[in-house]
Amino acid sequence: MISIDAKPDAQSADMTLPGGCAVCGGDLVVRVAPGSSRGYCGTCRSLTRPAVRVVKGQLQVAHPMVGSA
Ligand SMILES: [Zn+2]
Repeated sequence: MISIDAKPDAQSADMTLPGGCAVCGGDLVVRVAPGSSRGYCGTCRSLTRPAVRVVKGQLQVAHPMVGSA
């Protein structure tokens, strides 16, 4: 279940996406602020810049590819 921590007058909101890490499948903590979003996985310690948007009432989180090996 997604938990969201946001105050009405806050400039950012934090949410935890269970299994949301694209690297290891761990829980991803995402902080969304106007114009930016950042993600952190406490399991593998990955830092990401997920694209977060609401489409038809559903939250969508995308992890754009930034590189490959
Ligand atoms: Zn991870």
